[in-house]
Amino acid sequence: MSLQSPQDSRERQLAELRKSLEAAKGLSTKELAAQIEMIGFQCLGCKDCCRGEDNSVVVFPFEIRSILEAAGLDWLEAVEPPGEGEWDRDGCFHTLEWRLKKNEGSCQFCRENGCRIYEARPLLCSTYPFYLDHGTVQCSECRGLGRMIDPAEAKKLAERLIERSITEIGEAISLLEKYHDFERGQPKERGPCIVHDSEGEHKIFEKTELEGARASEPRSSPRPRSCR
Ligand code: SF4
Ligand code: SF4
Repeated sequence: MSLQSPQDSRERQLAELRKSLEAAKGLSTKELAAQIEMIGFQCLGCKDCCRGEDNSVVVFPFEIRSILEAAGLDWLEAVEPPGEGEWDRDGCFHTLEWRLKKNEGSCQFCRENGCRIYEARPLLCSTYPFYLDHGTVQCSECRGLGRMIDPAEAKKLAERLIERSITEIGEAISLLEKYHDFERGQPKERGPCIVHDSEGEHKIFEKTELEGARASEPRSSPRPRSCR
């Protein structure tokens, strides 16, 4: 029996992701649209999905750039790293994603008259309340579910869900390919933060320190995720 090295584990994860990518590319818009029609959906504009504790929008670097352009903000005005991650021996906090910054518990782009960055809103928002799990349409909480949906709208959502799935897997592959592992250290109260994403490493908060960062379970290679 041979022990599996972190490199083996990364290669295994990459192979699985590449397989998932091929599966996502083969998804049928027609079948997904039929599932969406069966579930039914009409957005009521209640903005529940943009507000509150559960609102947490994971964004990829290319989405962040579109948002910066649309909103006229700097990177760290628009997004922030999550509070969960791991500490290294030099006192840096490592994490794997960016999330839209919130304002008083709601997405900072939520306005009475709708989303301030509607045209540039992330894939996660434009497909809400739907997501795919192994090629099947699933739903998050939403009071607009169960209502009659126009077939053309269902088709558009199905196309967007496939695009989202392909994008998420592609981003995860790039992240893993560029990821440099580090020696784990003791959790600290505060410290500089390194965000690993599909473009590599972004070191932030060299002057401003990250407060309240929590240590997550240690692991030798990243498991990127995308969630709301
Ligand atoms: S997607 Fe659902 S939760 Fe979000 S605004 Fe529309 S009806 Fe409300
Ligand atoms: S980006 Fe727009 S749609 Fe997405 S959570 Fe924020 S306000 Fe809502």
